[in-house]
Amino acid sequence: MIEFQHVFKSYGQGRNILADITFRVAAGEFVYVAGPSGAGKSTLLKLIGGLEAPSRGSIQVNGQRLEQLSARARPYLRRSVGVILQDTHLLYDRSAIENVLLPLTVTGLPNDVARARARAALDKVGLNNKENTPPIELSGGEQQRLAIARAIVNRPAILIADEPTASLDKDTARRIMSVFKDFNRVGVTTLIASHDDDLMAEYATRAFKIEPGKFADSANRRPAHTEP
Ligand code: ADP
Ligand code: ADP
Repeated sequence: MIEFQHVFKSYGQGRNILADITFRVAAGEFVYVAGPSGAGKSTLLKLIGGLEAPSRGSIQVNGQRLEQLSARARPYLRRSVGVILQDTHLLYDRSAIENVLLPLTVTGLPNDVARARARAALDKVGLNNKENTPPIELSGGEQQRLAIARAIVNRPAILIADEPTASLDKDTARRIMSVFKDFNRVGVTTLIASHDDDLMAEYATRAFKIEPGKFADSANRRPAHTEP
């Protein structure tokens, strides 16, 4: 489903942000991407979403080799990976439903079908009564849920989110995480970058820890009974 093989990433002539990263994430996993600020968490997510290209190595997502993707094929990948970046990029002068409709405009779906789908997406994140509200009038948690609705409206197999609970209080953060868990339960592979170890431990089944020059994968930890 997601496979990295000896992936390196640097920006321009800069140092390697990620160096020699190899892992495989199976369909339906829920992965916590941990690490200090600037470690490369966003970079890792952007590589998976096809928003950045690796400097070296091979990345496979849903059977597609990303380093070989043409500019023409890229939008199709974007549809199979729902992306929620730190800056949600919501359009504040449009209504909630218009924001969710945006990713559907390129699909050529008939208007009424697209609207029904956008409504269903708003419904899944609990914003069915905010359809006509512009994001500016929504709370932080509601804006985050709107960003999730926009990310899942194309029914992606993979959902990646960069610090989706960063500016939220504990209860709101939990509500956001349970929205992700709901999608994960129906099979959506989920990767979330966060700083909140305690919160993520409640939801994730696997953790990647990125530190400058280091990558740890909880799936590679030796089981305790093999210790001498
Ligand atoms: P994190 O999400 O863990 O905070 P990032 O992936 O955002 O880390 O950033 C990792 C490093 O890469 C940082 O040093 C950051 O300044 C650098 N970086 C990120 N994006 C770019 C870019 N577009 N151009 C140059 N450097 C970048
Ligand atoms: P460390 O050796 O510092 O504990 P780990 O790789 O074990 O680093 O884990 C990094 C962080 O991710 C830890 O703070 C831990 O609480 C959390 N963590 C570890 N395993 C999981 C998991 N399966 N699901 C969610 N979070 C986890």
